[in-house]
Amino acid sequence: MIIVLKRHASETDIATISDLVCSLRYQPRIIRGVEQTVIACIGDELSNRSLEVLSSLPAVESVFPVQKKFKLVSREYHPNDSVVNVGGVLIGGGNIQIIAGPCAIESYDQLRAAVKDLTACGMKIIRAMPFKPRTSPYDFQGLKLDGVKIMRDVKAEFNVAMVAEVPGPAQIEMMRDVADMFQVGARNAQNYDLLEHLAHAGRPVLLKRGMASTVEEWLTAAEYLVVNGCPQVVLCERGLRSFDKATRNLLDLGAVAVARQLSHLPVVVDPSHAAGVRNLVPALARAGLAAGADGLLIEAHPDPVNAFSDAPQQLESASFGEFLKELEPWIELAKATRKRV
Ligand code: PEP
Ligand code: MN
Repeated sequence: MIIVLKRHASETDIATISDLVCSLRYQPRIIRGVEQTVIACIGDELSNRSLEVLSSLPAVESVFPVQKKFKLVSREYHPNDSVVNVGGVLIGGGNIQIIAGPCAIESYDQLRAAVKDLTACGMKIIRAMPFKPRTSPYDFQGLKLDGVKIMRDVKAEFNVAMVAEVPGPAQIEMMRDVADMFQVGARNAQNYDLLEHLAHAGRPVLLKRGMASTVEEWLTAAEYLVVNGCPQVVLCERGLRSFDKATRNLLDLGAVAVARQLSHLPVVVDPSHAAGVRNLVPALARAGLAAGADGLLIEAHPDPVNAFSDAPQQLESASFGEFLKELEPWIELAKATRKRV
């Protein structure tokens, strides 16, 4: 960490602060500038206590951390792209995947019809959401346990990998046999208790970015999973809350590029929750791939107009093949330009 002292800091202040730095298990190196003195403090910032506690001393102007808050997910730690295995289907390291499915499971017939359409187009990972954590308690909350049963039945018939959102630690066990990947939604993006529990579930995790999370908070949330034993994490950018309601959420493509630079974890883009309306989904999907995403998460429903949740943004599963055909050149370009691991 770096401590910048105020102009008036005396030799006694410098000695006192250096002693405090030593007592906090860092080695101080004093750098005397023309106008101000800086103390560079050598020590592991992740395992030691932070020196930010010293920022309230009268002779201290500011204290800066040097190390990032995330280590295991950083590219410095692991330079090559990670590859995440979702029930035998790979994401990252040159493997581009489209995860598609309805916003929520509404009935056996609805999920079956969606999975039939989507697997016919070659989709290998299905969104199957028995639980729907919603902003309003009056909105459809998912079929819950009945939805898990439907998921199990449909999976048995189509033998396809499934990703399911887990609203809290209590729902992990009931879905562990059927979910090939757990999703942490934007509303739970910094629920550290859930992340710690999920890290022990033995399944990969799709971690959405919170609707107002910084990239650092997003990657640090991923660090919770990795440091607690789950190295198989996929990051998902789904758009931020913004002043402009022209789209449902502001798709932060810069963050996709930054996350790919800072981290070895695969990043997917969710154009559906960013767009909020289906006719914008193709453009945002193309943009996500162009920004460096390793895949997309797209909502598709057999009868989107009558969907119980997110009706305006879901694509029609029966015509998903047409959407894919238009996207194909961008998928091929993404495959050709990603470095293969
Ligand atoms: C979802 O993917 O089902 C969802 C609810 O999205 P988000 O958490 O990004 O709002
Ligand atoms: Mn949705």
